[in-house]
Formats: sequence, structure tokens, C-alpha cells
Amino acid sequence: MKTFYNLPEKVEFCKICVNSNQYPASIPEWKHDVNRTKANYINFTDGICDGCIQAIKKKEINWKSREEELLILLDKHRKNNGDYDCLVPGSGGKDSVFASIILKEKYGMNPLTVTWPPILYTDYGFQNFKNWLSLGGFDNITYTPSGEAMRKLTKIAIETLLHPFQTFILGQKNLAPKIARNFNLNLVFFGENEAEYGNPVADNYTALRDKSFYSVSNLKNITLAGKTIEELEKNYKLKLSDLRIFLPLIEEETNNNLQVHYLGYYIKWVPQESYYYAVEKTNFKARPFRTEGTYSKYNSIDDKIDDLHHYTRFIKFGIGRATDDAAQEIRNNHITRDEACALVKKFDGELPVRYLSEVLDYLDVDEDYFHKRCDDFRSPHLWIKMNNNWLLRHTVNKDGVDD
Ligand SMILES: [Zn+2]
Repeated sequence: MKTFYNLPEKVEFCKICVNSNQYPASIPEWKHDVNRTKANYINFTDGICDGCIQAIKKKEINWKSREEELLILLDKHRKNNGDYDCLVPGSGGKDSVFASIILKEKYGMNPLTVTWPPILYTDYGFQNFKNWLSLGGFDNITYTPSGEAMRKLTKIAIETLLHPFQTFILGQKNLAPKIARNFNLNLVFFGENEAEYGNPVADNYTALRDKSFYSVSNLKNITLAGKTIEELEKNYKLKLSDLRIFLPLIEEETNNNLQVHYLGYYIKWVPQESYYYAVEKTNFKARPFRTEGTYSKYNSIDDKIDDLHHYTRFIKFGIGRATDDAAQEIRNNHITRDEACALVKKFDGELPVRYLSEVLDYLDVDEDYFHKRCDDFRSPHLWIKMNNNWLLRHTVNKDGVDD
């Protein structure tokens, strides 16, 4: 059967969690083209996904010796003259609160924090951001890109890739190495490694973020929103100067001493625990309501576009935000697989209506058009239209049309 985006034709669900083999492993966003020709998907071994294999391996990690590795690294970079000694990118969500405060309070570092703000802040997200800086006590650089470029690129990314969050991710991944260079900082800490959620397990044996995620040899083959820079200049009236902040560094501009590390390699990272930590330290507040498309209230709640992002992932890959959350909670022994299956059945793929018209108005996208465009992105091996309804062919609950 025909598949889009190089997705594996046979849909398979993990025996341990609820993830499927249609889960995209992360690649640098500038490699995304319409057909996802450079895409990778999560690896399965004997019916078990790499995310779960990683979780099993994590139980065997000697965290004491990992911490010793961290201390050696920190001592190498520590400055005692009041200057910043490391950079922590974040938005004041639970994970950046955890990373920045543990570095400051437990390990005596002096982090500078850097923020690529959401495309459309939620009130909760903005309050959490302010509390992070005021109660956590951090200096912060917030880099706000041109609203016009952001809006145009986001709109094109929906049209071309059905990917409303791409512009945000680009900034989030590329900004910190640029700011680090400008402030002469050689140490950047991200939180968790994406391998925790399904990148190749081998990626998790290293603390260092691969340079290919934030630098390129030249800008020739790069695409933004699925378009080359030349096309964006020619057809969308965007200038290179509008686009530069969304682009990775060119290798020769990169500080050769720069190291981008995952703190999650050195410190055991449990989402629920970083949530409690953030509540205690910076008065982090979950949203008082459930996030549409899932059952959680505290994961990634600062951008109104985020909910739409997860909805489009459900369209493209057949697995939504409840699948992500439930898979992670199974791996952390918070829920059983049966409970997870029920949560997926109840919430996965729910249309996030709360912010939908506001987001589409902001982007100047007609709602009917948006839904039609979504249908163009449904791969025939995942979806079938019956009686005017789109139905999944395969689900983790085994109640899909072809199960
Ligand atoms: Zn799994």
C-alpha cells in the first residue's frame, strides 16, 4: 500500500509501551522536505521500540559515576569571577527550571538563560516564564524574531509540510549555540536527549549533542518550511536577513570549543519529578484544564500552537499526543499498558479547538482550508475514509478498520 513520507508500510505497536513504528526520529528541521526523504523512524527490536529499550538500559545506569563525569565537566568550565559559565536554553517549563536550578543551586554554576519565545504565548506559559526568572533568579536573553517572518514561515510550513511548529523548533535548536558564541560561552546544556523518546539508542551513549543539529557546511541545501532559501526570497518576499535567525550556524562561524550537552545524560530525568521540582522552586503552575489531545496538564503548555502541532502529527503519523505522554509514563512505571491504551483511545487525535481559531486567524489560514489540507497529508496506509469519516486502519487498541 502507498505510504507517505517514507513511513514503514507495516504498522507495528510496541509490546511494552503504546508507541508505533511510525514515530519520527528527530532530524534537523532544515532537512525536512515535503516527502521527508531524509526521515528516520523509530527502530523496533523484537517488537520493542528504542524508547523502551533505552528506558530499560536507563535502569542499569550508575548515576553516581555519571554525576562524577558531570562534576569534572563543570569544574573545567566554572568561572569564579562572576561571569556566566554556561548557557541553559528554556522557556520556564518544568525541564528548563529543573536544569537551570540544579546547575545553580546544587552544582554552584552561574548559568545564563536564553529563551526563544513561543509563537503565541499562553497566559500560563508567560507567567511560568516570569516566575522562572524572578523566583529562580536568572539573567535571561529573550530573542524575539521578526513577527512577520515568523508568521509567514509558519504559514508556509503548514501549507507545505503540515508542520505548524517548525519555525519554533528551528529557533529553539539554533539559538543557543549562536548566543553562546556571542557571549564567549563554551558550555550549553539542553535537558533530555531526544533518544529517550525514540531516537536511535546509540545517540544516548553520548552526552554531546551532535554538531549537525546546529551547524552546516553551507546554506545551499537547506530548506525552511520545505522551501529553499532561493524560493523563499523569490516567491515569498522574504530576505536572507529575515531568515538568518532561523538558520543553523555555518561551521566556520561555530566556536570550535563549543560543547552542547544533555543534562539528562548525567542526571536521572523523570518528567513527573521535574514537574514537582518546578512547582517547589519557581511556583510552576500546570494549566487548570487538560491539554486537548491528551490527558496531562503540565507538559509543554506555553505555546498556543503546540496543541495544533501534536494534532498534525496525529494526521501524518497516526499517533498523537496521548500516545507520547502515555508511552513515557509506562516507561517510568506510572501507568500500565492497559491504562495507557484506554487513554490513547479516549484522547489521541482530539482536535484542539481551544486556541484553533485564534491561531488560524493569526496565521491568516482559513479553517475549512486547514482541514482540507490535513486530509491531503493522511497517508493511505494509515487512514481510510468511510461514510465521510476518516478512520485509522491500525490502532494500539486493535480496533482499526484493518486490524
Ligand atoms: Zn515502546
